Amino acid sequence: MKDKIIVVEGDITKLDVDAIVNAANRSLLGGGGVDGAIHRAAGRELLEECRKLKGCETGEAKITKGYNLKAKWVIHTVGPVWRDSSVQEDEFLARCYRNSLALAKVQGIKTIAFPAISTGAYNFPMDRATKIAIKEIKNFLLKNNSIEKVFLVCFGISAYKMTQRILEKSLED
Ligand code: ADP
Repeated sequence: MKDKIIVVEGDITKLDVDAIVNAANRSLLGGGGVDGAIHRAAGRELLEECRKLKGCETGEAKITKGYNLKAKWVIHTVGPVWRDSSVQEDEFLARCYRNSLALAKVQGIKTIAFPAISTGAYNFPMDRATKIAIKEIKNFLLKNNSIEKVFLVCFGISAYKMTQRILEKSLED
């Protein structure tokens, strides 16, 4: 497990992996944050393919090609907006990871990178979101051998340090 979940700091659009995950919104037509960065780096063809998908519900995931990205695939998932610390929001965030990993498995993806879904404009607390992400990724990797490496991509050094700390702790349990 230790060598399968890797925390990295930087811009997810630069990664050389089979798939990167996009923290999209329900329209799938682009937005700010990591979504905007992915669309800029992938090019207009990504938007054209996304238009055909007719949006995506919160917690669900859809896949497109990566176009100008190094990554062959982009898995678009829609995180919950953090409002009132309800368990429902935790469950929707967990579903984003579960559904993205399930799609990756079907597509034969071996390396995948996640941003910290919902922790930007959608305001989910970073530590809580990171614990949910790691729990779901661990559960998946325990039951499936198809994915070789999962990268958790942190934007900024403080997010990196926190994620690394939470991962180390969760691997002790
Ligand atoms: P959401 O709407 O799901 O909150 P955001 O894009 O606003 O999505 O933020 C999600 C996380 O992605 C935040 O932690 C933000 O710092 C991070 N982020 C923004 N741009 C990038 C990028 N280019 N690569 C990796 N992470 C990014």
